Amino acid sequence: MTRFSLWQPLLDFLFPPHCPLCHAYVETRGSWCPACLKRAGGVHRLVLPAPLKGIVRSAWALGVYRGGLRSLVHDLKYRRRRSALPYIDTYLCHVQQDIHLPPDLEAAVPVPLHAARERERGFNQVEAIFDRFLTARNLPSERLLRRQSATRPLYALQPHERRRVLQHAFVPEPGAAIAGRHLLLLDDILTTGTTMAACARVLHEAGAASVDVLVFASDFGRLNCR
Ligand SMILES: [Zn+2]
Repeated sequence: MTRFSLWQPLLDFLFPPHCPLCHAYVETRGSWCPACLKRAGGVHRLVLPAPLKGIVRSAWALGVYRGGLRSLVHDLKYRRRRSALPYIDTYLCHVQQDIHLPPDLEAAVPVPLHAARERERGFNQVEAIFDRFLTARNLPSERLLRRQSATRPLYALQPHERRRVLQHAFVPEPGAAIAGRHLLLLDDILTTGTTMAACARVLHEAGAASVDVLVFASDFGRLNCR
């Protein structure tokens, strides 16, 4: 992995590369062992959660939000460990041939963080996760949405509270090119779909031609297994 290229020989000597999950030794840094890769679930289309119905064309997850993917997201998001990124890249590389997004997409839109939260974390984890994925597909990432209110951690809230808190949380960035475009909304995880629905609704109301959803990991229902 190029993220480590400079120091790799030394690092490999001091810290032999191992699978991020079961710690079995692997050949290259950033790699997973085959068994753990398999357990991550693979790409799947999601049954549209109720809040997304009617405003989202399709929703996809690159893996299941448990075990390995869950701990990688937590490392990146809550512990600010960018060292999780090579493992995430490896996983995305592994599943990329299974990802069949609509061909008409024009731009990807990461779910935004509130400015204060982003300053505190130092980066938007959604952009970090999908950076190489989007570059490889020649799909620009555009910050078309703004989060205007800082919210408490959503996982602590009941569904009706989440909806209320998020209803006015997102607005289009001033001058954002949304109308008439086919957009791919990105997030790290999808659990209830409330955050996605709030963002998708803003894009929809601003005249987006279509909104599709892609998340890194989800524990929501699968439409079909590949
Ligand atoms: Zn493993």
